[in-house]
Amino acid sequence: MEQLIDSFGRKINYIRISVTDRCNFRCIYCMPEGGINWKPMDTLLTYEEISFFIKVAGKLGISKVKLTGGEPLVRKHLDNLVSLVRKTDGIKEISLTTNGTMLPVYAERLKDAGLDRITVSLDTLSKDKFKQITRMGVLDDVLKGFDVIDSAGFTKTKINTVVMKTINDDEITQLIEFAHKRGYDIRFIELMPTELIPNWKDYFISIKRIKDIIKDRFDIKSSDKKTNGPSVYYKTKDGYIGFITPLSKAFCAACNRIRLSSEGDIIACLGHDIRVNVKDAVARKDEVMVEKLIKYSIKIKPKEHSMLTESIHSTMSAIGG
Ligand code: SAM
Ligand code: SF4
Repeated sequence: MEQLIDSFGRKINYIRISVTDRCNFRCIYCMPEGGINWKPMDTLLTYEEISFFIKVAGKLGISKVKLTGGEPLVRKHLDNLVSLVRKTDGIKEISLTTNGTMLPVYAERLKDAGLDRITVSLDTLSKDKFKQITRMGVLDDVLKGFDVIDSAGFTKTKINTVVMKTINDDEITQLIEFAHKRGYDIRFIELMPTELIPNWKDYFISIKRIKDIIKDRFDIKSSDKKTNGPSVYYKTKDGYIGFITPLSKAFCAACNRIRLSSEGDIIACLGHDIRVNVKDAVARKDEVMVEKLIKYSIKIKPKEHSMLTESIHSTMSAIGG
């Protein structure tokens, strides 16, 4: 099997696929209150087109697929896509990142279709703050989602938490306790600047500061645990805590991923606006052209992001986080 190696020697084996830009939340750091101009459904890659793309990517050495969005579960019958991807040669792992609200409807079907694991985004355990952050979400719906993940038999569940100064930085220890009690890992993510939050520096809290808060309450030891992403893990006696520092350029040196937007743009770097569209080629099932476009995207993948000097121009919901 081929391997995709970019111009800086990084091996690319992981793809994050945004299946929709739509969402039933409007998180303050991700989407404007009024939503965005949703892409018309007929401009989105169909599930068959996405699975064709993955078939080609699988032959080139992509082995891990993350389904994301927007909220991936607002696109109907995501389990059908999971079934298609499950049958693809070379794909060893399929995971999902979700806000959790639709899991009561889909968790069992996703398990039956062959989804390997789920990450749920959860920034707070306070109902009021949950409403403040997500604008449209209800905390209890997400908590129900955790119960169904467990009863459907999923393991290796993770929680992703974006930490924001004065908003949820007082809940770090409670969130760790909540996650570890349920047997989940928790990962803290630094807020990434987007045009939605011009005053992001007022809310930004560094992973270093988050770690200091955690050390006051927990005995943490560094760990060699590795997952698909750029998380650095520490261990407490009850479970793992991961830290994701998108603003650190060291993160870029270990980057192993590309992204595919719901409209068929390959995005080689979250922090740059360079896109390579594959929609026509996948619609024609032109394997040679899709392969060329994937290889071209890897060739032009930038060395590092520029988030410290520029904010991300697209909303995170359009790129998939
Ligand atoms: N709707 C799903 C969810 O919320 O998990 C999947 C898509 S969401 C765009 C993927 C991840 O991106 C979430 O964990 C979310 O917290 C994170 N995210 C979105 N905007 C962000 C920002 N400005 N900074 C850091 N993380 C962000
Ligand atoms: Fe929706 Fe996820 Fe963005 Fe929140 S972070 S608005 S749940 S896509």
